[in-house]
Amino acid sequence: MALGKTDTQSCDSPPPMILLGVWALAGAEQCIVGRVRGHVVCVLYLQLQWTCSLCGSIYTQERCTRSQPPCNSTSAVFQAEAKAAVEDGSGEAHIWFSCPVISGLLGLAMPQWEGLQRSLRVRGHLRVYTRGRSL
Ligand SMILES: [Zn+2]
Repeated sequence: MALGKTDTQSCDSPPPMILLGVWALAGAEQCIVGRVRGHVVCVLYLQLQWTCSLCGSIYTQERCTRSQPPCNSTSAVFQAEAKAAVEDGSGEAHIWFSCPVISGLLGLAMPQWEGLQRSLRVRGHLRVYTRGRSL
């Protein structure tokens, strides 16, 4: 799992491994690029939604939900974001994930992930908040 700003890294030199505890001690004023190997403790927040390609409103079934003014868009894109607590033995971080990795985060195989997207067509969106956890 990679954290931080990675777009300036070349492909042949991956950022160094770093412990979350060390990272936290360095403070926010320092820009550190590193990789962390840890495990997901729990998913804190999950949002899945179909978004209108034209106006960005929620898209249900085969239509955009915007009514003022009405939107006649016929296409939508699926969007997903999640926040999870990740822990590596030295510390814990809350990390935001976006669409491509969320199926893996939820442990879903591709057919299940695609099925979830299809079933969400009816309602258009879903938000899940954690209500705390017991450790
Ligand atoms: Zn729209």
